[in-house]
Amino acid sequence: MSQREVDLFVIGGGSGGVRAARIASQHGAKVMMAEEYRVGGTCVIRGCVPKKLFVHAGRFAHDIEDMAGFGWHVSEPRFDWQTLVANKDKEISRLEGIYMRNAENAGVEVVSSRAVVAGPNLVRIVATGEEVKARYILLATGAHPAVGPAIPGCELAITSNEAFNLTRFPSRILIQGAGYIAVEFAGMFRALGAEVTLVYRGDKVLRGFDGEIRDHLEAEMTRAGIHLARGLTLASIEAIDGGRKVTLSDGAVVEVDEVMLAIGRIPSTRNLGLEEVGVAVDEMGAVKVDEAGRTSVPSIYAVGDITNRINLTPVAIREGHAFADTVFGNKPWTVDHSLVATAVFSEPEIGTVGLSEEAALKGGRTVDIYKTAFRPLKATLSGRETRTFMKLVVDADTDCVLGVHIMGDAASEMIQLAAVALGLKATKADFDRTVAVHPTSAEELVTLKVALRPA
Ligand code: FAD
Ligand code: NDP
Repeated sequence: MSQREVDLFVIGGGSGGVRAARIASQHGAKVMMAEEYRVGGTCVIRGCVPKKLFVHAGRFAHDIEDMAGFGWHVSEPRFDWQTLVANKDKEISRLEGIYMRNAENAGVEVVSSRAVVAGPNLVRIVATGEEVKARYILLATGAHPAVGPAIPGCELAITSNEAFNLTRFPSRILIQGAGYIAVEFAGMFRALGAEVTLVYRGDKVLRGFDGEIRDHLEAEMTRAGIHLARGLTLASIEAIDGGRKVTLSDGAVVEVDEVMLAIGRIPSTRNLGLEEVGVAVDEMGAVKVDEAGRTSVPSIYAVGDITNRINLTPVAIREGHAFADTVFGNKPWTVDHSLVATAVFSEPEIGTVGLSEEAALKGGRTVDIYKTAFRPLKATLSGRETRTFMKLVVDADTDCVLGVHIMGDAASEMIQLAAVALGLKATKADFDRTVAVHPTSAEELVTLKVALRPA
């Protein structure tokens, strides 16, 4: 059989890869895409989507608790973990099918196999050994959970990959880490009724986020009954009858059903043939790219988590789209990574865009801080002890709003629109000029009056 040739070979069928493959094909390119696990990638199969479904499951527990104050009484609610996992699996399979069909309907040939780079213009399909010639290769293999330094018993721990498919609900769980995944799973498992211990090496959760958001989230987590073990790591994990015995770095011992590591993700570049072909990677293994996604080999590009820039689905999708438009659509554009809004689906959730107070001050700006913490209206009748927190970081010289930070119900929804305003370089005066929508939490964002000037 003669060697097959394509215009583009995409390695990895996740958020970035699928978008790039589909758009390139629509631009008339002959495209092949290899996926070694399930089309849809991390976000659809074992990331954003199942995570948000689990978060919703936890919120029903809150709703049930909250409804009594509004006159509703439900007798003996019962949570069934197996039903949640089975229904989640059904939905994920449905989405996987849609991703697959969308790619194939756009003319992409999808190959169910691992693929590796065999040359600047050559990809090897591992399952068959076939080598395919490609005018361009796109690396979109994403990242995988870090399992950290090897401690005794580390193989007994799970990561987010396994957490989505546990056969039995972990009534007691220890989670290591304090980033997105750790705080999201801590909040979700706690809401579903688990005893949760969060162990982290730092002094506060969510490094890199605004300091006050971090403080408020810790206060809420503590109020919810999550045990925060700061400044600690894991020394060892042992299997015991029906669970795990964990020894922490201070000698304390915790017995749980499951131990989950949420200590970051590593770009999936190992054994991908990159070194042999001269694709440069950094010390984390992330592929180095220019702003157009081009690697050190001109025919090879990379998008998404494999480049370890902003590891979020919408960013990977945009990078894939920009690549396809630029290389195959004669419409060159690049992704602006400077003002990306993000949400953390902790309990309560967080929405943030732009600069934190700390980052603005570090950048040498003089800032005014506008903020409020209040009991949301729903909590007045439900009796839930919770506070919504909102903060604007404003450039004192230009009046430009540099950052918006929200923690509370629907923060993720609010921040999407705040991002539009910041993208238009809205000033505090623009926020003030905007008539409030009442009664909402969001109205606080346009009625903040008192400026504080940090020293
Ligand atoms: P991926 O989606 O990871 O796709 C890479 C694909 O490549 C995978 O399917 C993999 O199987 C495949 N692959 C790897 N190596 C090979 C190979 N050699 N050959 C063939 N196939 C290969 N982001 C958000 O924006 N919002 C969220 O709420 C959110 N929640 C998350 C929750 C969790 C638990 C996790 C882990 C991540 C979450 N993310 C979230 C991040 C988001 O999932 C990633 O940023 C996004 O999926 C990156 O897309 P990608 O295309 O770079 O990689
Ligand atoms: P993060 O980078 O967010 O957090 C990693 C955490 O692990 C930090 O608390 C870090 O501590 C800690 N850590 C790192 N190495 C070690 C170690 N060797 N020992 C102990 N602790 C360690 O990673 P996640 O795994 O939570 O998530 C990966 C990425 O996926 C996120 O950064 C985000 O881009 C994406 N994601 C997005 C979500 C969303 O949009 N809602 C949800 C989930 C994931 P320290 O701070 O001290 O370095």
